[in-house]
Amino acid sequence: MTKPLTSGELNDLVAGLHKLSRNLWWCWDQEAQDLFYKLTPRGWQNMFHNPVAVLREVSDYELRVHLQEPGFAEKVRAVLLNFEKYLANRDTWARKNAPHLHRNPVAYFSAEFGFHESLPISAGGLGVLAGDHAKSASDLDLGFVGIGLFYREGYFQQAIDSNNWQTEFYNPVDPHNVPLEPLTKANGERLVCSVEIGLTVVEFQVWRVNVGRVPVYLLDTNLPQNEQHYRDLTSRVYGGDSTTRIMQEILLGIGGVRLLRALQISPSTFHMNEGHAAFLTLELMREKMAAGRTESEAREQTKRECLFTTHTPVEAGHDRFSSELMNYAFQRYLTQFKVTFNDILGLGRVHPENAQEPFCMTVLALKLSRAANGVSELHGQVSRQMWSALYPNVPVESVPIGHITNGIHLLGWMKGSVRQFWRNKISNASNGESKVFREQFGEDWAAALNHSDFWKKMTDPAFVSDEELWALRYKVRRELIEFARRRLLIQNQRVSPGDYIRFDQLLNPDALTIGFARRFATYKRAPLIFQQFDNIVKLVRDTRRPVQFIFAGKAHPRDNDGKRFIQQIIHLSKHSELAGYLVFLENYDVHVARQMVAGCDIWLNNPRRPLEASGTSGMKASCHGCLGFSILDGWWREGYDGTNGFGISGDSQPDNVEEQDRVDSANLYKTLTEQIVPMFFNRDDQGLPREWLKRVRLSMATLVPQFTTDRMVKEYTQKYYTTR
Ligand SMILES: *Cc1c(COP(=O)(O)O)cnc(C)c1O
Repeated sequence: MTKPLTSGELNDLVAGLHKLSRNLWWCWDQEAQDLFYKLTPRGWQNMFHNPVAVLREVSDYELRVHLQEPGFAEKVRAVLLNFEKYLANRDTWARKNAPHLHRNPVAYFSAEFGFHESLPISAGGLGVLAGDHAKSASDLDLGFVGIGLFYREGYFQQAIDSNNWQTEFYNPVDPHNVPLEPLTKANGERLVCSVEIGLTVVEFQVWRVNVGRVPVYLLDTNLPQNEQHYRDLTSRVYGGDSTTRIMQEILLGIGGVRLLRALQISPSTFHMNEGHAAFLTLELMREKMAAGRTESEAREQTKRECLFTTHTPVEAGHDRFSSELMNYAFQRYLTQFKVTFNDILGLGRVHPENAQEPFCMTVLALKLSRAANGVSELHGQVSRQMWSALYPNVPVESVPIGHITNGIHLLGWMKGSVRQFWRNKISNASNGESKVFREQFGEDWAAALNHSDFWKKMTDPAFVSDEELWALRYKVRRELIEFARRRLLIQNQRVSPGDYIRFDQLLNPDALTIGFARRFATYKRAPLIFQQFDNIVKLVRDTRRPVQFIFAGKAHPRDNDGKRFIQQIIHLSKHSELAGYLVFLENYDVHVARQMVAGCDIWLNNPRRPLEASGTSGMKASCHGCLGFSILDGWWREGYDGTNGFGISGDSQPDNVEEQDRVDSANLYKTLTEQIVPMFFNRDDQGLPREWLKRVRLSMATLVPQFTTDRMVKEYTQKYYTTR
């Protein structure tokens, strides 16, 4: 019988749990998540895995009862100790390599941050990347602050109507129910700052998100003193029309700088993640001119402080505003600015004197940054071409846009069961080996998982056997299938009791499972594979070599072409010969993404090259033993080496898009039937697909350590944050 905890000890643990719930560090710590899961398993599942909501659901009385259970308090103590150790650790990469950033941090501006499904303020890859950037900045202990917007209604939730048409609905986020803390002044009152929009002074408050060691500040105009339409300005991610958009961007860029000043933070670099934040350059110029600098001095100094990352070659992805809209939105702001309106417009034009040319945020960002980059090698090339008119006397290859290839926050994306698997591997490694790990990484198995030496061991069958790897693949594939069955049952509103069994028979745990999930932007060509419809039907009908498809994704609310793609795929899944072999999971988000990238055997990606700037979902697949199968676009062009996954088509593309679609779909089908299916089903006497597993090993060894935000943030630091 263990001694009951004293009320002092209980109070400490309760306070510790509350603090833990309000720091997103738990997103990448499995043991921390397990604590909240244990308090209310169903609540954890139904409330988007949200520790703050769990601690509101479970009363203080109940929490204290749990803490008196044998074992639970031990676990809580261990997690809290790890958490405190993480926060207090000073023996970090950034303290050695970029110590001055602790005095003058990097201010990272992004219109979206995708941290976790419980805080749905991101529309897709751009936001997920920003969230992962912040998490790795924390792991590396970089001097870093994030600036974004708090969207109370977030990004939309997807539902499908009886015509298989996507409809959108919004779940308002209660700031008190998510890990946000209001920023207050020393006297306890809310901190309020303001920006001028149109003729109005709009005030905003700020929420702080603790991402491990680093803060991200989210601006929010929903204050009673603002007119209603300004209160609603931050309701939705990319909501409304271009008027809403320009106002949101004024808030983000100009408001963000004013917030940093109010907090007395002096950034050494203002990093614009995409053009949305580029108005921050105007505010920096305004400040300098108010302090007596000339326009050209202010411009040069601002340029030295700014860095810009562009994220897409798709034209519609670059915000452009008419002169009328600019004039309307900036009329009051401009009265404080000693620059003519025409000069301002010129900053956003390739040809400043061309009155017909709209104001482009990307142009503004390029003109006022000391450095700029794309997000993969190919995207760097494409961007240099795309913006070469801005640098008239410079050969295309010397246009000053470099590249840093994107990555993912590995621990945040690794599924719990897989993390557990690697962790056991590390602690149970044969004695000699675990000694080597201990010497290299101390007790810090998380550091081991980020290290390429660990992943290089994947090619060694003595470290992990084919049997173990295959068992792991079966485990995560089954987890995905059971997740999909639950989701499909919920999605289907007209179920009768007998249907429950039917839903439990959907999908085949032995089948080669091919996943496709991403935003349904048309250039991503979700239905491409079904151009070979008759062939695909033949493929799935082969009972000796079963194949199945799981699709998911949201189309932008105004993208009817994207919605038609969704409609077409759901229709096939219900009413064609593919029914039963193809399913569509509704409401794609980071949680659905995590299940899918882990459980699928093949991660399909067939964008229209070269429009996929990087892509990151395929990077999330490798550490789970899911193989990439992609057009050689974005990161895959660098990652794929012929042995660590599968490619579609070559390192160039036809000019004509119809031709490109035709060639790519033929190549896709050819690789699928001639290589992928035979290799997956080529089993030895023990039932193991040896050749397949070899590819899985190579994909882990070569891709996992390379395509992380750990590598990416180090690269940003060395190439851009610490150089001027
Ligand atoms: C990773 C991720 C993306 C980005 O995927 P791409 O491969 O870049 O299209 C988009 N949405 C969610 C929810 C993700 O988790």
